[in-house]
Amino acid sequence: MKKHETTTPASYESVMGREGLRLTPQRRHVYEVLMEKRDHPTATEVFIRAQQGMPSISLATVYNCLETMVGSGLVKAVHVDREPTRFCANLHEHGHFHCTSCGHITDIEFGRRSASSAPVSSTPKGWKLPEGYLVTHQDLTLRGLCTDCTSGKTNTSPTI
Ligand SMILES: [Zn+2]
Ligand SMILES: [Zn+2]
Repeated sequence: MKKHETTTPASYESVMGREGLRLTPQRRHVYEVLMEKRDHPTATEVFIRAQQGMPSISLATVYNCLETMVGSGLVKAVHVDREPTRFCANLHEHGHFHCTSCGHITDIEFGRRSASSAPVSSTPKGWKLPEGYLVTHQDLTLRGLCTDCTSGKTNTSPTI
């Protein structure tokens, strides 16, 4: 096993470069934390994880890094009602499924398109846009129950 081989996706450099952002060690670290475990953590959770590898990092810095990366499109901010914003480093075009019972957030794919890198130019199926409107960005969250919750696996409380 090689020790010093970090597999940071090329997209990190390209996006940061395109946006003219500096590759600060903090930003890289926060991004790596997000890539490591893709369970859509909140800023506080990212902070706790980031501190393990970089004890000097502050919550304000983490917020700042997240904000910058969301602004540049490197990271997605996922808003779920009444809950703190969560963050997602999945760069593929995708939506989210929020289980209203256990709170789990899963990535879901939009219907397949032929060119993966093409910008969103068509209207998502089933929606009727007002004339002249153009979709540049899809941000979709579906709500419902995950497999565990529909099959009743999770509600196994020992108290009756
Ligand atoms: Zn669930
Ligand atoms: Zn996601």
